[in-house]
Amino acid sequence: MSTPAVTDATVGEPRSPNGEFLIDVRGLHAGYGGIPVVRDLDINVGAGEVVALLGPNGAGKTTTLLTLSGLLKPISGTVTVLGEIVDGNRPHMIPRRGLAHVAEDRSLFFDLTVDENIRLGLTGNKGTRKASHDRAMDLLPALKPLGSRAAGLLSGGEQQMLAMARALVSEPKCLLVDEMSLGLAPIIVERLLPIVRDIADETGCGVLLVEQHIHMALEVADRGYVLQHGEVSMHGSAKELLSKRSVLEASYLGDAALDD
Ligand code: ATP
Repeated sequence: MSTPAVTDATVGEPRSPNGEFLIDVRGLHAGYGGIPVVRDLDINVGAGEVVALLGPNGAGKTTTLLTLSGLLKPISGTVTVLGEIVDGNRPHMIPRRGLAHVAEDRSLFFDLTVDENIRLGLTGNKGTRKASHDRAMDLLPALKPLGSRAAGLLSGGEQQMLAMARALVSEPKCLLVDEMSLGLAPIIVERLLPIVRDIADETGCGVLLVEQHIHMALEVADRGYVLQHGEVSMHGSAKELLSKRSVLEASYLGDAALDD
């Protein structure tokens, strides 16, 4: 069965008062071997915003995040992160500019302890490193008693928190989170997603959140974009998108499980 076309495209009001975005993507075509899997993408994220990037499996969400992180070279279009063009060259410079990426696989070192994993994300001098560590622990207090435990022994939810903590200690201005819910029970996801909201509210970080649990994601997000077959089929404020539940669900038909 073919996926029904969704043409609604209401633009939500981004939070950035001066119209400048931490992440500004315009006309992006990105993919593999010169073949685009995302096409003509316009996405932006302002300071303190949580923006959900939604869409069924294979829609191009991870490809978009990889391009924002500089790990994939754009085929065409412009990606600007924190005022600088991201063109796929020198990707190691992107974290130094203030962008952190929590990848789908969480990329933890299972044989290292929680504290050791977190230390890998620390930047700055000795004084600021302690403050960064303490701030991350305040946002993720459940990790505090687990410092000496091997990451491989943590539950899935705890591992996700650890991946977030490691990203947070670098004090990012932009945070990309790719499917934090992967492999987790919905009840755990329900507890984790508000942490993303807290991060944006308390640190002013702009968050681009890829999530399969669309309703839960929109409960914590300010705005959202729905990708379908590599193109934005809907975008708008989280409230608007939630109010168009049937159209939103149609874009997932046959592809994704929806939470209620
Ligand atoms: P999911 O929700 O399943 O993670 P997604 O929306 O994140 O999906 P992507 O992982 O970005 O989607 O994949 C988009 C398309 O690009 C898919 O058709 C996928 O098969 C293809 N793709 C992903 N990685 C590669 C690659 N390294 N080489 C070629 N094609 C790829």
